[in-house]
Amino acid sequence: MSKLYHSTRGLAPEIGIREVALAGLAPDGGLYLPKKWPHFSVNDIAAMRDASYTEIAFRVLRPFMQDALPGDVLRGIIEKSYAVFDAPQITPLKHFGGIDILELFHGPTLAFKDVALQFLGHTLDYFMQGSGKRITIIGATSGDTGSAAISALADRKNIDVFILYPAKGPSEIQRRQMTCVAAPNVHALAIDGSFDDCQAIVKAMFADGAMRDECNLTTVNSINLLRILAQIVYYFVAARDVAPHKPCFVVPTGNFGDIYAGYAAHKCGLPISKLVVASNSNDILTRFFATGKMEPRPVQGTLSPSMDIQVSSNFERLLFDLCDENAEQLRGLMQSKNGFSVTPAQLDKARQIFMAGSANDAETLATIAEFQKNHDYTLDPHTAVGVTVAQGLARTLPHPIVCLATAHPGKFPETVAKATGFAPQLQPKVASLIKGSERLISFPSNRQKIADFIRAHRLN
Ligand SMILES: *Cc1c(COP(=O)(O)O)cnc(C)c1O
Repeated sequence: MSKLYHSTRGLAPEIGIREVALAGLAPDGGLYLPKKWPHFSVNDIAAMRDASYTEIAFRVLRPFMQDALPGDVLRGIIEKSYAVFDAPQITPLKHFGGIDILELFHGPTLAFKDVALQFLGHTLDYFMQGSGKRITIIGATSGDTGSAAISALADRKNIDVFILYPAKGPSEIQRRQMTCVAAPNVHALAIDGSFDDCQAIVKAMFADGAMRDECNLTTVNSINLLRILAQIVYYFVAARDVAPHKPCFVVPTGNFGDIYAGYAAHKCGLPISKLVVASNSNDILTRFFATGKMEPRPVQGTLSPSMDIQVSSNFERLLFDLCDENAEQLRGLMQSKNGFSVTPAQLDKARQIFMAGSANDAETLATIAEFQKNHDYTLDPHTAVGVTVAQGLARTLPHPIVCLATAHPGKFPETVAKATGFAPQLQPKVASLIKGSERLISFPSNRQKIADFIRAHRLN
């Protein structure tokens, strides 16, 4: 098997895509990346003009998969993954004056996480078939990753799933999407802490070699490269929809996974004019792109909980590029506990493609109200952060401006009602799923206790 993937920290062996998917985080604490990105020429991209979502997915993902997923298997996985979406275009693009909205929420749990997790679930399942082994998936979630992972992995053979979420983080619907699922192989654990605490516990479990080996740990967080790869696809699809114009993308950002997928699309040859990071009041990334300093502050709860993050894991992948793939320099930056700075030259390089802006809760509500009034279209609070930032920058941004709609408004009825005066309908497919009784499991932010629970509750 060709070993085409390496770790950002430079201290882990190079491996193939199957091992990357099954490992999640590299054993040296780094994130996996391809040693060389595939390149799509202008002609390859032009030839996508008349291709469907699933056909574009096949063309984009094929070069990453090598023989680990033979062509017909990859096609089958893509077909199954997107058959559960309720829009024929999978990710429809809607036009509202100067702003285009790329709807990424047509999957089973109504957030963009489904796009990657459906694919990841089927792919992991394929990789595990006939292996005689089980894997244990652990993940941290502020709400949407957990529900999308549980939806994709419930009742799968050979896979146990443990999802950590901040007890006070998710909306009621997000929580019920995790706790009302009765499958014996999935467990959602409410942690008395923030998303960053949950993510730190997950990373520490990976760093524990004994546990990692005993449980065959992997993760469905966007540190798993397979998720990023599946998300590259819709940047190509949106570019098809605005062709021949070169799009600028505005991305509501938390862990930097979604926008990194846009950057990866660009590295694969897709023409993109700007990638705009949109943050809520947890604006560490906006401050970074202004100053070159990454300075964490305490996490604030906002109306866009899936973006209440201070430590954006995937930023390390960009940083690796900014360090010209010098793993030693990157390790130095990542080891400093209280943030780090990049050089002015590195910041300039990042700013060639990235811009950033932030929106607070009041602005988010105002945008939801205004968009409803002007366009009769309901934005979810995360998407509204992006639209607020896009409108603020509209005069300086190249058009067309594509704002990624990362969740369906029905997932956040209280916030939407606060802005518009009425709560959006929750789709029946979700409403029926979250009716049952909840299985609530609570833990202090204590790694040992959680590790003991995981060891005791894996199925055999
Ligand atoms: C996860 C999520 C985000 C943030 O995406 P990242 O890849 O973590 O940057 C934004 N909006 C919604 C609705 C999400 O679920």
